[in-house]
Amino acid sequence: MKEGLGQSIRVVKGVGPHLAQLLSKKGISTLEDALYFLPRAYEDRRRITPIRDLADGVYATVCAKVVTARAMGHGKRMRFEATVGDETGCLRLNWFHAYPSLKNDFAEGETFVLYGMVKLFQGRPEMPHPEYEKVKGDVPAKTFSFGRVVPVYSETEGLHQKVLRKVVGEALRQSLPLLEEPLPRALRERLGLWDLKQSFIGLHFPQTIPEEGELLPASRRVIFEEFFILQLGLGLKKQNRKKRTAPVLSGSPDEFVARLPFQLTGDQRRAIGAILGDLAKPTAMTRLVQGDVGCGKTVVALTAAFVAAKCGYQTAIMAPTEILALQHFNLARRLGLDSQLLVSGSERNVKASVVVGTHALFQEGVTFQKLALVVVDEQHRFGVDQRGELLAKGTKEGVHLLMMTATPIPRTLALTLYGDLDLTLIREKPADRPKIPTQVVRERDRHKVYQKIRETLGRGEQAYIIYPLVENSEKLELKSATEMHARLSREVFPGVPIGLLHGRLKSEEKDQLLAEFREGKWKLLVSTTVIEVGIDVANATLMVIEHAERLGLSQLHQLRGRVGRGTKPSECLLLSDTNSPRLRVMEQTEDGFEIAEEDLKIRGPGEFLGTRQSGLPGFRVGHIVRDAELLQTAREEAEALLARDPNLDDPENAAVRAMVESRWREKLERLRGG
Ligand code: ADP
Ligand code: MG
Repeated sequence: MKEGLGQSIRVVKGVGPHLAQLLSKKGISTLEDALYFLPRAYEDRRRITPIRDLADGVYATVCAKVVTARAMGHGKRMRFEATVGDETGCLRLNWFHAYPSLKNDFAEGETFVLYGMVKLFQGRPEMPHPEYEKVKGDVPAKTFSFGRVVPVYSETEGLHQKVLRKVVGEALRQSLPLLEEPLPRALRERLGLWDLKQSFIGLHFPQTIPEEGELLPASRRVIFEEFFILQLGLGLKKQNRKKRTAPVLSGSPDEFVARLPFQLTGDQRRAIGAILGDLAKPTAMTRLVQGDVGCGKTVVALTAAFVAAKCGYQTAIMAPTEILALQHFNLARRLGLDSQLLVSGSERNVKASVVVGTHALFQEGVTFQKLALVVVDEQHRFGVDQRGELLAKGTKEGVHLLMMTATPIPRTLALTLYGDLDLTLIREKPADRPKIPTQVVRERDRHKVYQKIRETLGRGEQAYIIYPLVENSEKLELKSATEMHARLSREVFPGVPIGLLHGRLKSEEKDQLLAEFREGKWKLLVSTTVIEVGIDVANATLMVIEHAERLGLSQLHQLRGRVGRGTKPSECLLLSDTNSPRLRVMEQTEDGFEIAEEDLKIRGPGEFLGTRQSGLPGFRVGHIVRDAELLQTAREEAEALLARDPNLDDPENAAVRAMVESRWREKLERLRGG
């Protein structure tokens, strides 16, 4: 888009400093902001209704002459009343909060167009607080607010519809000559997409009102463009990645796989196949493996490490906590890999083939001899920079990157956020995994929960009780967990050793507590939600979550994954008194991807990602759930375009390329932060 659209909204006729200030509250500072300030609804004001035909409770447009007008009271208390008439009858207008200019406007004999809700009072029509416009001449003109389908914007204190309409309408008028069509014509024609000017006009001043749930062709075009630009950005990024080199690591994993005490699942084998395929190329791998807790990602990574080691190269596996690092290290050693654990900050020259560690891995002073594969476990827990620092320790020929996450990301979101990475899903769980039956329990049935806990302890097994955030307050969360801990210890389970885990503990204290829980010193563990990426305690078979409605489905799913880690039957109980059908999803499925899709639908992308924004930055119109189909089309079209013109060098693609460069890159990096 031309620079012109970045001009301050002050260039719009009638926008002074005061109005500009109000507009900025609505996020409108430039012409472009005004174009993208989309109506939340539309009103049909094309037809003028004769006063005789006005019906109670219906919005209508009327054109009538002032017969009488009078103000009552003063200042804030002032009321204003006018009677207007057309050839068919009279209509009373009321303002219960009047303002002085009304008196001047509604002079006897003037003609007005009026819009508002009609009330019949003793059979006579009234219209309180109508929108109005003076008519010059005989017939009402078509203005921003009358004689057409009119946009309704979200208002703010002191900034009313009429003003907003005028500002946006004028901004649109002034912007039209500046708008440059970024989408190649052939593409638009093939997909039946409106051109840019037509679209903005159609968004603000459409010819017809869209049906409920219908997407205006103008919206469709703008949404497609947003998605398309993003997908092009991601595609270009992916191409750049493919230019990066890394050592060729090829070899058979069979010897290693034969050492495993179990059969790999089909999905694990497919993941290993994809990874080894990447490693065998001189291009650096950038792959993200997504799979629920317990689906067995670690052995997938270790298989790759084995192949790297056979080729004489090192692998670094970075985990977010010491406990996890230790777990991975022990597994690697048990499986016969030459391994080393690096958790404290002390400097070291690492020589082992497989180096497992925490943040300590990328500290200054840690040097690798031949690092060719970096594995980042629970990748969302690390920043881009941290990952970068570790990658920087790779060999001169480059280094491969394998990221893993136990947070399933719905497909639409993955396309948006990670469209530049190669993605692998592990959906299948090892066959020996017990199901985790889940039940929503009402407060009045709390005793049943306690009974379940007693039974669990009676079998010599352990349980978790989780207390989620009290309205985002860590302090209150701690309080309720602490109180509950005290009550359970004193009244409900006297004599049972109950541990208390919360965010205020130092990380060593947390680790210690978890280690003690694992050893069985604590039978019950009361915890706040800090226990998210935790340990693997096979003997813990019951998960109780209080106030389950406070958590997103994905979080509940993560927490539930803390049990069912061994082969004993496990169970999850969700205490909640809200009647939300949402929680039922937890009773119905254990598929993390399905739950994530639901969660995204219910909460939207911002909340889902925990960014506390209503949507993804950069998407002003598009909604990745509602518009999933358009997103898919945009992706395919972007891929096709880049296949034909990899650098967008063709003059025909210059406009779209400029847009990609200006819009996306930074935003994307900032959003996913990893
Ligand atoms: P995650 O994907 O959550 O990182 P892990 O790699 O920690 O899962 O695996 C969880 C447990 O399952 C480990 O004890 C691991 O040894 C075991 N495991 C992995 N793959 C299989 C399999 N195919 N069959 C049985 N057990 C498996
Ligand atoms: Mg793991």
